[in-house]
Amino acid sequence: MTATAAASAAYIVAGLLFILSLARLSRHETAKTGNGFGIAGMAIALAATIGLATRSISAIGLTLLVAAMAVGAAIGLWRAAKVEMTGMPELIAILHSFVGLAAVLVGWNGYLSVEANAGEQTEVAGNLLGIHSAEVVIGVFIGAVTFTGSIVAFLKLSGRIKSNPLILPAHNALNLGALVAFAVLTVFFVIDPNLALLTAVTALALALGWHLVASIGGGDMPVVVSMLNSYSGWAAAASGFLLGNDLLIITGALVGSSGAYLSYIMCKAMNRSFISVIAGGFGNEGSASTDDRDYGEHTEIDADAVAELLREAESVIITPGYGMAVAQAQSAVAELTRHLRAKGIDVRFGIHPVAGRLPGHMNVLLAEAKVPYDVVLEMDEINDDFTDTDVVLVIGANDTVNPAATDDPGSPIAGMPVLKVWEAERVVVFKRSMNTGYAGVQNPLFFRDNSRMLFGDARERVEDILRAL
Ligand code: NDP
Repeated sequence: MTATAAASAAYIVAGLLFILSLARLSRHETAKTGNGFGIAGMAIALAATIGLATRSISAIGLTLLVAAMAVGAAIGLWRAAKVEMTGMPELIAILHSFVGLAAVLVGWNGYLSVEANAGEQTEVAGNLLGIHSAEVVIGVFIGAVTFTGSIVAFLKLSGRIKSNPLILPAHNALNLGALVAFAVLTVFFVIDPNLALLTAVTALALALGWHLVASIGGGDMPVVVSMLNSYSGWAAAASGFLLGNDLLIITGALVGSSGAYLSYIMCKAMNRSFISVIAGGFGNEGSASTDDRDYGEHTEIDADAVAELLREAESVIITPGYGMAVAQAQSAVAELTRHLRAKGIDVRFGIHPVAGRLPGHMNVLLAEAKVPYDVVLEMDEINDDFTDTDVVLVIGANDTVNPAATDDPGSPIAGMPVLKVWEAERVVVFKRSMNTGYAGVQNPLFFRDNSRMLFGDARERVEDILRAL
């Protein structure tokens, strides 16, 4: 078998492992083996690519390649080992930006090694030059949009810039204009590839990526993260075409299409228009998130009184949110669950599709704390049961339990389905202050007659309740 045939065989095996990995990642029970398949696929892909490269690059080139991989792997291992669960979305966003930047560099390299050397002997024959130029310009465009879009997502998710949408005058026209300009520049570049045009496309795409994500409000950020995941896949596929690497095309297409489908599912779950979100809030004229309405007074409660409520309850639903992750309260919450279930109280969890800062964030934390899967229900499975529930414990959730989403058409989160916790007999909200959630919207739940605020760090408060019980 020739080296090329062996590499192709290895690429097919790696591609199959990636497909199996994606299939298994879609369920908690199989997610761990799914990760294993992904790691195995990537190891095979790297070994085959390096094996193939040894045939055509110099010893210095190979040394540089291995050194770059070693440095990259060391940084990756260090960051992944250090990152807190709450920092995962930012890490993912910054990793997407690297894929985008790599696609830009691959595109520029393609231009510099082929089009810029026109006249000299290059590996791209005359009549294929147009196709190559189109690959360059499309790869650079997708990569640059992904790069700056992911950086804005990183800045928003890490709280370095505000999560409120940036609404420039005529922002929809700006986005559409940028797409039209890209189409025109692409045609000119294919006819006459030159440095000025490629620079213009790169600058345009960098600005568009920035603007698209800056225009999205906090409540829609989950869709943006999966959308950027999808873009990073398409950017990788574009690089695959330029580098002539089939596996990169397959992997990029898998990431691109699965990310697009996840964005679509999330849009449906959140009652958002898919087109509007991928087009940077197209059609959304942006509602002000400043809300100075007087909702009345909130009522506080202490841990002993919550313990008393729980002792008398027959049914309890816990709705965790981002604050549970910040407080690392999942083990204490799991302990409380075991305690109450041992006393014959029916305890279940209601998980909102965008609770936390990652799809599945709460499920991961609860699984880590060994909460049985069968009491962890999705929002749609549990939303009608709140009316028959004695006590709801809202642990560090805010936007995902905000009645303004259903009651106030002017709210920035209007239309987003939420957990209807207020329908229970008593609601206890665990948080540290009266601050808003990620979307920056005031929550009228806190002021309802049947709501009680339990202030402080969620883990400490749950531990106080356990002691009182
Ligand atoms: P929110 O971000 O709306 O609210 C979290 C609440 O937790 C805050 O009100 C905060 O209040 C409280 N909190 C923070 N730290 C602690 C602590 N140590 N102890 C107790 N409470 C604490 O959370 P939700 O999960 O309800 O909503 C998720 C939001 O994030 C949605 O807007 C969603 O769109 C967005 N998002 C989700 C992503 C995803 O994929 N899941 C990705 C990106 C964004 P206080 O400061 O007063 O304590």
